Amino acid sequence: MAYHPAMNITIAVLPGDYIGPEVMAVALPILETVLRKSGHTLEHSTHDVGGAGIDRHGKALPDSTLAACRAADAILFGSVGGPKWEKLPPQEQPERASLLPLRKHFRLFANVRPGLLLKNLVDTSPLRPDRIPDGVDMVCIRELTGGLYFGAKSTREIEGGDIEAIDTMVYRRSEIERITDVAIATARARRRHITLVDKANVLETSVLWRKVVGERIKAVAPDVTLATMYIDNAAMQLVLRPSQFDVVLTENMFGDILSDEMAVICGSLGMMASASLGLDENRHGRPYGLYEPSGGTAPDIAGQDKANPCAQVLSAALMLRHSFGLEAEARAIESAVERTVASWIRTADIAGGGPAVGTRAMGEAILARL
Ligand code: NAD
Repeated sequence: MAYHPAMNITIAVLPGDYIGPEVMAVALPILETVLRKSGHTLEHSTHDVGGAGIDRHGKALPDSTLAACRAADAILFGSVGGPKWEKLPPQEQPERASLLPLRKHFRLFANVRPGLLLKNLVDTSPLRPDRIPDGVDMVCIRELTGGLYFGAKSTREIEGGDIEAIDTMVYRRSEIERITDVAIATARARRRHITLVDKANVLETSVLWRKVVGERIKAVAPDVTLATMYIDNAAMQLVLRPSQFDVVLTENMFGDILSDEMAVICGSLGMMASASLGLDENRHGRPYGLYEPSGGTAPDIAGQDKANPCAQVLSAALMLRHSFGLEAEARAIESAVERTVASWIRTADIAGGGPAVGTRAMGEAILARL
């Protein structure tokens, strides 16, 4: 592995609910091993969040958990929520009352979701294998703190007893520039091609996105190519010819939808990791970030040693890459996952009806290949 001065890495571990603790228990030893092998030290402390926070502290994001996140360089998150807490009022639901405040508190403005379908897993995709002979390899960069989800909203009764509801979509040049910079950095580590997805034929915000992204790339990244695509076409192109995409850059709501479509194309949610990067830097001069699987708590398989731990393990790899600059260590984890899957050690969600191993055995197989 490439030489890096020894680092002391401090992370807050928030496993959450249902399969969250099961997959986290697999990811941590893998993370510890790769760091120890390259001479770094890992300090981690585990804290309740989501339903576990509600049950033990009366709130989804306990003060002690937030304090631990503040003291750390990054957050490794599991997933939260499930049937046990479904009857709570919407604002007290585990996801809304823990993840959204964390995003807000740490100003996590950039969501990075790799859409990777390994060549030997094309059978797990709902797409016909001949559409994706080489698998899928793209990254969705979604703006996470602006747009329709955060703009002013209201509902009011108007004349004639009718009701009117309003959501507002607002974007500023500065918000678009900073997420474009994340897309540029991502593209430079890949095939250097960005597709901006928008609705510039209808939306003013999209017109601004096109202008700002175009200007930014021309000014600071002439080595990166840019294509633009309307969201309706992008939703189609993603299933018709996913190989045309390298880095997909888009605003909050379009990214919410497209990144889920991308996840489905890539087979199981159990393989999909994600990073949410903040505006602030950690003690190592890198972006503070929250790293988590793209899927939820999978209550249907929780407690049965069936969950695929790969998404959690790959989230830890993303953390090493983005929040600590440890590219070789991140690649070591990714490669161990790839080789495990290639040697046909697979959990049920990616076994296509063939023989499957459990969560723990999958973790041991990855660890053995590190
Ligand atoms: P889900 O992602 O938990 O499950 C959808 C399907 O994917 C299920 O069949 C599940 O078994 C499967 N799946 C997901 N992760 C898997 C894994 N690692 N291995 C194997 N199979 C896996 O979505 P859902 O059922 O709609 O939601 C369940 C709960 O999770 C809800 O309470 C929801 O609010 C919450 N949720 C949380 C997050 C988060 O914490 N970021 C995200 C999405 C959903």
